[in-house]
Amino acid sequence: MSKVFLIDTDKRPQNPIHPAQARQLLKNGEAAIFRRFPFTLIIKESRPEAPVQPLRIKIDPGAKHTGIAIVNDTTGVVVFAAELQHRGFAIKESLLSRRQLRRSRRNRKTRYRQPPKHEWFRKGNKMPSPKQRREGWLPPSLMSRVHNIDTWVKRLGKYANITAISQELVKFDTQILQNPEIQGKEYQQGTLAGYETRQYLLEKWGRDCAYCGKPGLKLQVEHIHPRAKGGSNRISNLTLSCEACNLKKGTKDLKDFLKKDPDKLKKILIQAKKPMADTAALMPLDLSC
Ligand SMILES: [Zn+2]
Repeated sequence: MSKVFLIDTDKRPQNPIHPAQARQLLKNGEAAIFRRFPFTLIIKESRPEAPVQPLRIKIDPGAKHTGIAIVNDTTGVVVFAAELQHRGFAIKESLLSRRQLRRSRRNRKTRYRQPPKHEWFRKGNKMPSPKQRREGWLPPSLMSRVHNIDTWVKRLGKYANITAISQELVKFDTQILQNPEIQGKEYQQGTLAGYETRQYLLEKWGRDCAYCGKPGLKLQVEHIHPRAKGGSNRISNLTLSCEACNLKKGTKDLKDFLKKDPDKLKKILIQAKKPMADTAALMPLDLSC
């Protein structure tokens, strides 16, 4: 069970306490509720200082949500755990609708006007092209994710004595996020300059076997169009399947293998070609609190 954060009269983080202890403090009027989420109490009168134990924050970033946990490395106790929801898709949509509204506003019942001279308008009010992007540029939906995590790490740092941070960090090349056709000989070895093909496929296809849909099985990287028949090592030709399906499919064409399940066939073919801009990207974050 999650613990309750505690801050002293100067709002410095103290050792998190058990909920029962928190109830006791509230009942005795020794502390007041400072925040509802994360649940934090503030001590009313200064007490003799007790040593505050160091805590580690762990982050497991994902496309749709990011897991955050605060643990005590010495005792192994999980002090706090939560899942952040990201609003990447909502952001993409609202940017699209803003663009359309502006366009129609400009074109609606207006006399002829020269196109605006301002550089930003001349670019057509679009996102910067790859050439124009500054270093560290991320699509707005990803940037929001980064900010979301950053905000929460900083916020939790106010209520817990966080001295260490670790992150399940998987780097993806943003090029393959946008262009699943990309290929390189490195993919044959499974990695491309530190970008993990397997991790990428897990994000793209999920953790269930792509063919039988069973969860919890050991997954193998699998060529959709078999290599024996000229299938490429492109990331768009790869998926994950369980060993049984992998063996059963062998060197069959996907169409033959799934001829009894045309829906699944269609789904796999679509998913294979899908760019990953919004379904996955795990970015190294600057997490200095
Ligand atoms: Zn399977």
